[in-house]
Amino acid sequence: MKVHLIHYTPLEIVELACSIPYQSIPSKKLVKKVWESGHRSVARHTIIVFLVKDVSQSLLRQISRHPHINLTVKSSRYCNMESTNFVIPNFIKTDNAEEYKNDLTSIMNIYRKWNEKEGYTKSQNRELAKMFLPLASTTDLIVSGNYQAMYEFLQLRNCQRAEWEIRKLANTMTEILKKEIPEIFEKLGCKGDELGYCPETKGCGKYNRGKMQMLLG
Ligand SMILES: Cc1cc2nc3c(=O)[nH]c(=O)nc-3n(C[C@H](O)[C@H](O)[C@H](O)COP(=O)(O)OP(=O)(O)OC[C@H]3O[C@@H](n4cnc5c(N)ncnc54)[C@H](O)[C@@H]3O)c2cc1C
Repeated sequence: MKVHLIHYTPLEIVELACSIPYQSIPSKKLVKKVWESGHRSVARHTIIVFLVKDVSQSLLRQISRHPHINLTVKSSRYCNMESTNFVIPNFIKTDNAEEYKNDLTSIMNIYRKWNEKEGYTKSQNRELAKMFLPLASTTDLIVSGNYQAMYEFLQLRNCQRAEWEIRKLANTMTEILKKEIPEIFEKLGCKGDELGYCPETKGCGKYNRGKMQMLLG
């Protein structure tokens, strides 16, 4: 997985937005105060853009659940995926790693077979072949969102209960943003870090579960 921050709106825009309601003097301190008071709409006049490479097709299914996050993804219809890499879960046992790779290679042989099957146009071949692309095959994408959208997406996916790959992506983006835009992102962790309790019904052990979560079992 490779994660590059390629662009973000300078904080001055948020400073200005924060200064408008009471005609205050724009400043970083003011941004922190307004943000921490929960008036987060001031951060919507912005954009943060990441280039993300070598993540699984499986991750795409998860990241696309966040309606305020924008995605532009490599086309599996127009790109030849024959030489794709595979994501290997970090918890796979050493003894099983070879078997895992061999099985994915077998699936990719089926992809190749349909990509080259005679009697079809090139684009029909691709459309048939892509049906056999394993979820572990890798892709590249641009991920963007305004400061608030990015913050709320990262809080949800920094959760210990999020799947390891999207959590790794969220943790990496969080570290980058903490350094680049500390006025907004320095306290970013999981939802529990902000609430002081865990909103997940099963919890992760870091915080006690909320009263409602306990009632739900
Ligand atoms: C650990 C974990 C496990 C998950 N497991 C599953 C799973 O098994 N199956 C599954 O389908 N999904 C799963 N999800 C995805 C989850 O259900 C949400 O779709 C995803 O987290 C986005 O949540 P969100 O819309 O609240 O947050 P965001 O996308 O960050 O949106 C932020 C906020 O905007 C508001 N908002 C967004 N869209 C709307 C809207 N259309 N109308 C009104 N308000 C809106 C809400 O207040 C929302 O909380 C999982 C997520 C996590 C973190």
